Amino acid sequence: MSKNQNKTGSYSFFNCIEKNFDKAARFISIEKGLLEQIKACNSVYRMHFPVKIGKEIKVIEAYRVQHSHHKLPCKGGIRYSMKVNQDEVMTLAALMTYKCAIVDVPFGGAKGGIKIDPQTISSENIEKITRRYTSELIKKNFIGPGIDVPAPDYGTGEREMSWIFDTFLSLRSGDVDALACVTGKPVSQGGVRGRKEATGLGVFYGIRELCHVKEDMYSVGLDVGLVGKKIIIQGLGNVGYHAASFFHESGAIIIALAEREGAIYNEKGLNVSKVFLHLKNNGSILNFPEATNIENTEKALELECDILIPAALENVIHKNNANRIKAKIIGEAANGPITPEADEILDKKGVIIVPDIYLNAGGVTVSYFEWLKNLSHVRYGRMEKKFRENVNAEFLKVIETVCKKKISIEEKKMILRGPREIDLVRSGLEDTMINGFHKIRDLKKSLKIENMRTAAFVLSINKIIDSYEKLGIFP
Ligand code: NAD
Repeated sequence: MSKNQNKTGSYSFFNCIEKNFDKAARFISIEKGLLEQIKACNSVYRMHFPVKIGKEIKVIEAYRVQHSHHKLPCKGGIRYSMKVNQDEVMTLAALMTYKCAIVDVPFGGAKGGIKIDPQTISSENIEKITRRYTSELIKKNFIGPGIDVPAPDYGTGEREMSWIFDTFLSLRSGDVDALACVTGKPVSQGGVRGRKEATGLGVFYGIRELCHVKEDMYSVGLDVGLVGKKIIIQGLGNVGYHAASFFHESGAIIIALAEREGAIYNEKGLNVSKVFLHLKNNGSILNFPEATNIENTEKALELECDILIPAALENVIHKNNANRIKAKIIGEAANGPITPEADEILDKKGVIIVPDIYLNAGGVTVSYFEWLKNLSHVRYGRMEKKFRENVNAEFLKVIETVCKKKISIEEKKMILRGPREIDLVRSGLEDTMINGFHKIRDLKKSLKIENMRTAAFVLSINKIIDSYEKLGIFP
């Protein structure tokens, strides 16, 4: 048993990331102390604060961890869950550092967490807790457009982000850049179009890119392309639902969806929006009319499929079930869904694992776009939309005159249209995900690295070293 393993022979979540980091470090020639500096968490803020819930005073445990200050501000989501603990928040903050570096988003990694179960607390009380947490962060200078910028994560969404912004603004009135203190806000409150679905869409772009690489597809006995691929998704929350919708729309077949209470299965494919409606109306995905129930939700991960997308929580694929996983590709939409022991088992089986530090970076990429929008105080496309439309109209006239071609009304609409915010955000995200994929793949090939995860870490660590060198901190 290694010094990083606990009594049961498992690694702590933070040790899992350290283990992955150390594997990558074998491909990097730099002084050990400098690697240790990159690995370490820079600041850990653990807090307890009282909140009156009903007639009782409850003491709430919460965290904000800033893993790296090599670029500022720090950036990372806030999680609401009873499983929140210091080790988990530190790990998620570290993942943010590596993730941002891979997709060239100029932030240091951070993460926050509040140990509550939002499903059992009223929205009034969640609001109280969120606002109190934000004022604790303000007191200690752990939030601000140039300091640390939270975003949604497991158990939080637009609603919580707007409370954070409102609390920040009320205590920092007059700060012209206050909107940039948090991302993932509703569009009506300074959010950017396309943020809500960004992580799921990024997952889709990343997997689609892989499915178009002939060599990789043949290596796992699959045909090229996404159409007809059988997919299983665990977690139908923000990330899982949007990823499932994009896969479904692109012609892939969602054969199973798993939630806390159980999973549903249909070999011919599930209609994702119908399942979501069923979930909204019944509070459970079970008993969906066009599917079979699987009571033990974990069993859904072990079904025969081409692509498995865990999009719920960490450590769901571990040494005890890894051998039973039949997927040929696993796309880590969640953070840390595979333990290091399971990683080794799956590697030996030849499964392609598309790692979290790349695959779920769509959220932070679009959060970066939102932050830029807030700092520039102008909506994307506002300056160039009309100009583009005028240029396109001139261009159209030339085509019609020179080519003497009749262009249909539909074609005209398409050619004349100037870019809207959503078009720019989505194209920026698509470009980022495609580039990221090929940078990792090229590095994997050129250095003969064993898998995509290690290659992604090598890419990321090299970029962080570059930034430290530019700052003149490292010799
Ligand atoms: P969410 O709260 O919106 O959804 C999570 C879903 O998982 C919920 O529907 C929940 O019921 C379900 N779930 C919980 N336990 C389960 C279990 N045992 N089996 C099956 N389903 C279960 O959270 P989210 O924002 O979609 O985040 C999901 C994962 O993606 C997390 O690991 C998060 O860190 C990661 N992530 C999220 C974002 C983002 O932008 N929201 C960005 C990057 C990474």
